[in-house]
Amino acid sequence: MSGASVRSRSLKRVWRRTPGGRAVIHYRRSKPYVAVCGVCGGRLGGVPASAGSLRKVAKSSKRPERFFGGVLCPSCLSAVLKLSVRSS
Ligand SMILES: [Zn+2]
Repeated sequence: MSGASVRSRSLKRVWRRTPGGRAVIHYRRSKPYVAVCGVCGGRLGGVPASAGSLRKVAKSSKRPERFFGGVLCPSCLSAVLKLSVRSS
């Protein structure tokens, strides 16, 4: 693998030793990011997997626009809100 495509840093570089003893670089594509809830660890809805094309997308379309949008899942958010209201 050579040329302009590997000059970009979007691919992860991994050094590997060949059977002949040379050290070569292997290029690996990173796995797409999956957003998870900060409390229960479940997958969050409304949060697209990160990709290069997402740079031009508005922030409002990358996560739900509410308290803890993109951080907590709806059920954990309702539990947190109930806790905070009942303790105040
Ligand atoms: Zn949760």
